[in-house]
Amino acid sequence: MADTSFLAWPFFEDRHRAFAERLEPWCAANLPVDHDNVDDACRALVRMLGDGDWLSTTGSDDDGGALDVRTLCIARETLARHDGLADFAFAMQGLGTGAISLFGTTEQRNWLKKTRVGDAIAAFALTEPQSGSDVANIAMTAQADGDDYLLSGEKTWISNGGIADLYTVFARTGEAPGAKGISAFVVRGDAAGLSVAERLHVIAPHPLARLRFEDVRVPASAMIGASGQGFRIAMAVLDVFRSTVGAAALGFARRALDESISRAANRNLFGAPLGDLQMVQGHIADMAVDVDAAALLVYRAAWTKDMGAPRVSREAAMAKLFATDRAQRVIDQAVQLHGGDGVRQGHIVEKLYREIRALRIYEGASDVQKVVIARQVMGGGG
Ligand SMILES: Cc1cc2nc3c(=O)[nH]c(=O)nc-3n(C[C@H](O)[C@H](O)[C@H](O)COP(=O)(O)OP(=O)(O)OC[C@H]3O[C@@H](n4cnc5c(N)ncnc54)[C@H](O)[C@@H]3O)c2cc1C
Repeated sequence: MADTSFLAWPFFEDRHRAFAERLEPWCAANLPVDHDNVDDACRALVRMLGDGDWLSTTGSDDDGGALDVRTLCIARETLARHDGLADFAFAMQGLGTGAISLFGTTEQRNWLKKTRVGDAIAAFALTEPQSGSDVANIAMTAQADGDDYLLSGEKTWISNGGIADLYTVFARTGEAPGAKGISAFVVRGDAAGLSVAERLHVIAPHPLARLRFEDVRVPASAMIGASGQGFRIAMAVLDVFRSTVGAAALGFARRALDESISRAANRNLFGAPLGDLQMVQGHIADMAVDVDAAALLVYRAAWTKDMGAPRVSREAAMAKLFATDRAQRVIDQAVQLHGGDGVRQGHIVEKLYREIRALRIYEGASDVQKVVIARQVMGGGG
């Protein structure tokens, strides 16, 4: 049983503690699922999470209430501790509809009625082959055509690419060069002209694709927010969800620590449990400090956002950078303490070792988070 003493921290309210207490037994009863076919697994997970009423937290409600970042973080931490793919399925429902939750029209918000119950799968399509970290350099165009727009270009590394019912797509409407000439659109997964150009296979498999848009026609009413505001919208969405990536890393790290504590108690070497060796105790202590420090940064960021801060760039960047980097270190130590078992295919710490890596790359690579933090602290933003 993982340490839940952090729930007593003043960042949380009783409703958060109650949520965590409800989610834990649900995860224990339902996860992990079979990952043999990741598309089917993700579809099944979205269905299960919807039926369990866990997805209602991923989108704002009918009144347009704010997303509760602490709840999102608790959910991701808990799900990641049980099954990385379950965390992925949950997270994408939120990230894929974040722009609608924050800026959507009444019509666009109808999608939330579906994604919040698991009836539709969502995706967030920002990255392009030539513009990963350099987001303002995207090339996909949205050309006005009467009352419609025609979207043309490519998106890559799109999670849920190929299985999503809706995509939030960022394209160049040309008001100005760079960040100012981008707009956001809702695009149906079955839109004519939208196709999967390539499936991408990564070390911790999940549905990922490069997508091709060939004159994909969307009505002007599909634009989220105002024309030319797409970059600002993307950053506002990432401002909410970046801390939750740290929370997922925290879940992976907590699982690695739990597995290591158990291994230290149950593996006998030199006539005594492994945990009697002081150097092993040193590893466990380092792991525990990393986990608690990451949790403090993650929940500080989530609490700050929930308290109404318009932007939490510094807090969220620190949370993501630290939690993902330290989770990598914690998991590496867990692999070490498990000896040969740690690198055996299918062992839980071997899976964690693969799961954690991409979190230091997506939603802003670690180096990019450092740039954000340095700009904030050197520019007087804390
Ligand atoms: C598993 C996975 C899932 C993803 N899901 C999605 C998704 O759903 N939607 C979506 O739109 N995108 C998604 N992405 C894309 C992801 O956001 C990009 O991979 C990421 O932004 C980095 O872009 P890139 O891969 O082109 O790397 P590059 O931009 O080429 O960067 C490579 C490296 O260069 C360094 N670097 C870059 N910029 C700087 C800088 N300013 N200062 C210092 N160093 C720097 C960093 O070390 C970085 O890792 C996903 C990626 C992965 C791996």
